[in-house]
Amino acid sequence: MGFLKKLASFFVPPTSGRFYPLIVKCNRCGEIVEGEINMHNDLSAGDGEDTDAGGYYCRKVLMGSRRCFQRIEVKVRFDSNRRLIDRQISGGTFVDEQEQK
Ligand SMILES: [Zn+2]
Repeated sequence: MGFLKKLASFFVPPTSGRFYPLIVKCNRCGEIVEGEINMHNDLSAGDGEDTDAGGYYCRKVLMGSRRCFQRIEVKVRFDSNRRLIDRQISGGTFVDEQEQK
């Protein structure tokens, strides 16, 4: 039971479900950059190309606070119940993904 709960926590937005946390690591300088997706304001319908595709998507660009100006672009897809179904990143890596390995 505890294991299942832990596993699910990687995919299910925490607590209120209002914010989906993003923790990424910059590919250039290694800085950990944190951001979040506001599930109420940041989501757009569709998959980014087709608004009739169902579900929602969000594209977010994160930047570290150091002098490295690397842009870390995150694209996230949610189903119609706002559950994560896919995510992509360029310019960095997802920190929670690394920890699973
Ligand atoms: Zn950087």
